[in-house]
Amino acid sequence: MAGRQLLACALLAAAVGAAVGFQEGLRGHQIWELPSSIPAALEALLRDGLLDALDHSESHRRVHVPAEGLDTARRILGEKGVGYKVLVDDLAEHFQGERRRRREVDSREAGSCTADSCPAPLSDAYMTLQQMEFYLREINTTYAPRVSVQSIGKSVEGRDIWMVHVKSGGCAQGDTQPQVNLRHPRIAYWMMKRRAVWIEGGLHAREWISPAVALQLVATLAQQCSVTRAIDVYVVPMANPDGYLYSWASNRLWRKNRRPISGGGCDGVDLNRNWGYKFGVGASSNPCSEVYKGPATFSEPETQALRDAMTAVADGGNLELVVALHSYGQVLMYPWGWTAEEAPDTPDMRRVGEMFASAAQKRHGTVYSVVNSASGFYYASGATDDWAKGVLNTKYVYTLELRDEGAYGFYLQASQILPTAEEVWQGLRMMLLALTPEKAPAGAPQA
Ligand SMILES: [Zn+2]
Repeated sequence: MAGRQLLACALLAAAVGAAVGFQEGLRGHQIWELPSSIPAALEALLRDGLLDALDHSESHRRVHVPAEGLDTARRILGEKGVGYKVLVDDLAEHFQGERRRRREVDSREAGSCTADSCPAPLSDAYMTLQQMEFYLREINTTYAPRVSVQSIGKSVEGRDIWMVHVKSGGCAQGDTQPQVNLRHPRIAYWMMKRRAVWIEGGLHAREWISPAVALQLVATLAQQCSVTRAIDVYVVPMANPDGYLYSWASNRLWRKNRRPISGGGCDGVDLNRNWGYKFGVGASSNPCSEVYKGPATFSEPETQALRDAMTAVADGGNLELVVALHSYGQVLMYPWGWTAEEAPDTPDMRRVGEMFASAAQKRHGTVYSVVNSASGFYYASGATDDWAKGVLNTKYVYTLELRDEGAYGFYLQASQILPTAEEVWQGLRMMLLALTPEKAPAGAPQA
């Protein structure tokens, strides 16, 4: 009950937070395309915040250049003899034009959401933070007690971070008492072997497909309870609510949280560099960088809330799978991110990762490559995945970069939400089946 009252208060708070100056935070910012191979000195610039790498294509590299860094970036590229192409010359203008073009379509596509309710997650439009919270309120009631929603902490700006718990036990527990005899040896064995799974969405604000897919997974998990009969699934669909709101209103390319940082005029900490395991490798100490790690491990309330909730789940026993949803690139990465050395359980993580990729591909033909984080992408530490592996010792840990491969990148069309969620569900289903407890030992009575 208290949880529902809290949720209602949060919805009110979100409703009064009106946006002003749509995407004005990007006035004068540009998108450039650089050659893929650039001098090492430029890599340092990327890391230190002058340029924000948007992708890592084989043939080219797109970067976001903030307005205040344009002159310096032009001068340095000129000195190094590196050519570049301007793809977008004013991002505020670009997104305002996009919104004018899409307004009619967006209002038509508001789907199942009304002004004060969302009975299902939208599959044809990206949901506002408020719509997401309407939906979470809805499932907290509709599927109780099998599904529950609770706040695990507050963001820097005081917004709730919601965690959905889809409980093991199957549909039988529906709205009455569980229909299982816990004293029966076979059932007791089966319950003892329950697994827990953690899914994180929305840690990076601009990766809108991540919370969209997380919410679709919640809707599917709530209905398809046979898959989760012996598995407790915990989903945080929106881990960075402040950043998400800011990406809707002021800066579509915002990645970090909204921590105010005095002095340099650059705000925000990269929440996927702030975790307390090998902190600092492949991250930046410069607050202007998109990969700014923050002043200390777990300096941010968002990572603290996630850490504490994951630790509680792991302490409850058998946290076997962690999947962090990001975009873009269609890559399933397993630890380590901080070093190219092999992490424990690598052959198993790779095998189950391949199971995901093959099941996902069967759905719509989308190819997800399965790689080690550090060797396949770039060194990065202080991320959810390395912490889950290194501190919680979770066996199967992945960061999943969702669609696409760069054609639309962070601005993936809303029409791709449903197919992306469908293929991810197929892959995740195979992962969950791989975790299902082995048969009860010989001699255990049959139920
Ligand atoms: Zn990300």
